Amino acid sequence: MNNVITKDYKVAIYIRLSREDEKQGESESITNQREFLKSWVSEQGYEISDIYVDDGFSGTNFNRPSFQRMLNDIETGKINMVVTKDMSRLGRDYIGTGEFIEKYFPAKKVRYVAVTDGIDTEYDSSGNDMAPFKAVFNDMYAKDISKKIRVALRTKQKQGLWVGGCPPLGYMIDPNDKNHLVPDPEEDYIVKKLFSLALEGKTPYQIRLILTEENIPTRAMIKGKVNNRINHAIESKSGIWNQKTIKGILTNELYTGNMVQNRRSKVNYKIKKVVNNRKEDWIIVENTHEALVSKNDFQTVQKMLPKTSIRCEKKIYRLLDGILFCYECKHRLGICNPRKSDGRTYTVCNYYRMNSKYNVCTSHGFNYDYLEQVVINTIKNIALNYLNEQELLKEASKLKFENPIEKIKHELNMLKEKQENKISNLDKIYMDKIENKISEDMYNRISAKLYKEIDDIKWEISEKEKYIEENNGTEQEIDYKNLLEEFISMKEPSREMILRLVDRIDVHADKQLDIYFNFKELNNF
Ligand SMILES: [Zn+2]
Repeated sequence: MNNVITKDYKVAIYIRLSREDEKQGESESITNQREFLKSWVSEQGYEISDIYVDDGFSGTNFNRPSFQRMLNDIETGKINMVVTKDMSRLGRDYIGTGEFIEKYFPAKKVRYVAVTDGIDTEYDSSGNDMAPFKAVFNDMYAKDISKKIRVALRTKQKQGLWVGGCPPLGYMIDPNDKNHLVPDPEEDYIVKKLFSLALEGKTPYQIRLILTEENIPTRAMIKGKVNNRINHAIESKSGIWNQKTIKGILTNELYTGNMVQNRRSKVNYKIKKVVNNRKEDWIIVENTHEALVSKNDFQTVQKMLPKTSIRCEKKIYRLLDGILFCYECKHRLGICNPRKSDGRTYTVCNYYRMNSKYNVCTSHGFNYDYLEQVVINTIKNIALNYLNEQELLKEASKLKFENPIEKIKHELNMLKEKQENKISNLDKIYMDKIENKISEDMYNRISAKLYKEIDDIKWEISEKEKYIEENNGTEQEIDYKNLLEEFISMKEPSREMILRLVDRIDVHADKQLDIYFNFKELNNF
């Protein structure tokens, strides 16, 4: 205790300011820390050997340039005393900070002082006993701050506000509102082109070739934009498009005008590692910005895209790629490459193919071209029958009324009028009862009857309203009638056409096919 200041101290002043500290106000500012420490050191009668400043660095790790430089100077013996304003300036990680104070500094015979915390490793002061506790507090503080920022971000994300950095290709941050995205005129055409190529049935592999050959610039070429996405290095400035980038764009719902955030998050506040979140945890807010692709087209593209990365390499799609399923085990049915011996293409249950040694499912190996032909013919027949029936219905309906919906709307208005009348009758007999024109008994009997009638009318009204709501969407009906007519007129239906019409096809082991259409009316044929 009494062997005070017998050594010559070569003092290092260490100053750290994180972006979070900045928000807390001036008290922690670089200038304040520097002035405070300088005067403390001169009060003690020591010489300052060097000042180390890390501006904008978090205390949760020790990868800070000036901190590292200071360690280097400790190693070379240039300094033997470190002074900080408080312990959290050294670090906010309990284990790391404790390691320095309890092991590293003593081992290097470096004296450490955290002035406002009263910690001085030279003395066996009461402040030192507090050291581990202080470190725990600082650790908790860092956790708390990182939680606060995350909560603040979530709140913004839930409001559909953009809180990310550089937005995905095709968008830029609205110059008038940093939480809003607008199409980037230099890039949006690229995204639109990508989706229209995909709708034509091109695979990411083919799209990649087209974009590269047509010299469509990659984002890196357009702005030399530095983005830390995975594929940045690969496509760089060479102008060669990357398949993963293309698939990433084609599967990003953000392009439909919905804000999709929280797709990735940090593991914890100490580690910078980023993981992909489960889809349930994504924060999606609809229609927050201008879409570059319609929701319908986006859905179609999702169905057309290959589901696994292996199939991403596929050079062409077969007509039924992606909608064939094994009826028995519900897994996808793959379409093999043509057999070398006879050029024939066969289907295979993917589950069986991957696990055949475990004796699961059966091969479902059918001649694909034959299956395709059967499917096309079946759809054509169903479409023809359906269209014929629609024609007949139309003729029949002309005899009765022009438009069934209009008729029901009319009935609905009548019902509402009737309801009003009944209610005013109720009011009336209530008045009669008050004025003693009718007895209590009679009032009870009539009002019970009226209530029941009103209830019935209410039910009828809700039924009719439901009907109108369900059948008012005539737009879609017209849309798929045209689609069916187009399908029938096509010599060779396109994959896009098939995918717009058909949801999935279940293939049974005994060759039965179940075709599920996207339009519920067709499923009854
Ligand atoms: Zn199967």
